[in-house]
Amino acid sequence: AEAALRQSQKMEALGRLTGGIAHDFNNMLAVIIGNLDLFIRRYPDADPKMLRFVSGSQEAARRAAALTQRLLAFSRRQPLDPKATDIGRSIADLSDILRRTLGDAISIETLRAPGLWRANVDTSQFETAVINLTVNARDAMPEGGKLLIECANARLDQSHAEAGDDVTPGDYVMVSVTDTGTGMSPEILSQVFEPFFTTKPVGLGTGLGLSQVHGFVKQSGGHVSLSSEVGRGTTVSLYLPRSLEVSDVPVADRIVRAEHGR
Ligand code: ADP
Repeated sequence: AEAALRQSQKMEALGRLTGGIAHDFNNMLAVIIGNLDLFIRRYPDADPKMLRFVSGSQEAARRAAALTQRLLAFSRRQPLDPKATDIGRSIADLSDILRRTLGDAISIETLRAPGLWRANVDTSQFETAVINLTVNARDAMPEGGKLLIECANARLDQSHAEAGDDVTPGDYVMVSVTDTGTGMSPEILSQVFEPFFTTKPVGLGTGLGLSQVHGFVKQSGGHVSLSSEVGRGTTVSLYLPRSLEVSDVPVADRIVRAEHGR
């Protein structure tokens, strides 16, 4: 719990720092883009070579602005507002976005186990996490492949604990995202939750996707597990705490509890 607290304090401080820098950068970039725009419009007959340099600079400044927008979105993360969430339904609601994110070369399959419990999570942050995982899966499959999203009930006990990540025994809703992409070496795998760790070219990766996923799941009281093999693909599994709202407990469970209570 202390490690989780430290991680969340670290993320909060980082969020504030990032937000401040991103905000200032954004303003400066707006000036640069605006001035270059002005130049192009005022001197349409300038040396074509010169114009190419200017529009190249403008393009780079636009990419930088897109990056700072992502950093701003990261630093503005809302506090969690957990409620009983139908994970299968959320994923179905995302299907258009996921389809567009993946493009034509990647097929997508979703499996939902029957009798799926509801999870006690912030629905919109859960959706952000699924989108982040999907973007990573797409980037890992430049030649195309398959994305599988599975949801199932899961009962965890201490035997599921991984090094450094204590598992609280109990009922969880498991959501896993599996790709048939490049996979990761153990060295990369050990760093992926670090904020700003990325292997992607500048402007393409921020290194914040899996930090968001990890932060969200940990703050929700859940667990993340990763498995990956170079050349075969990656599975990221989220274990989200089951919602314990009375209406979410199946009738049979409720009767047993009532009898215990006597
Ligand atoms: P970003 O995607 O911006 O790089 P992330 O935190 O989401 O930031 O991911 C960090 C790094 O983890 C990526 O740069 C990549 O090297 C690796 N990674 C994440 N997901 C996958 C995946 N599904 N397959 C292969 N590598 C991955």
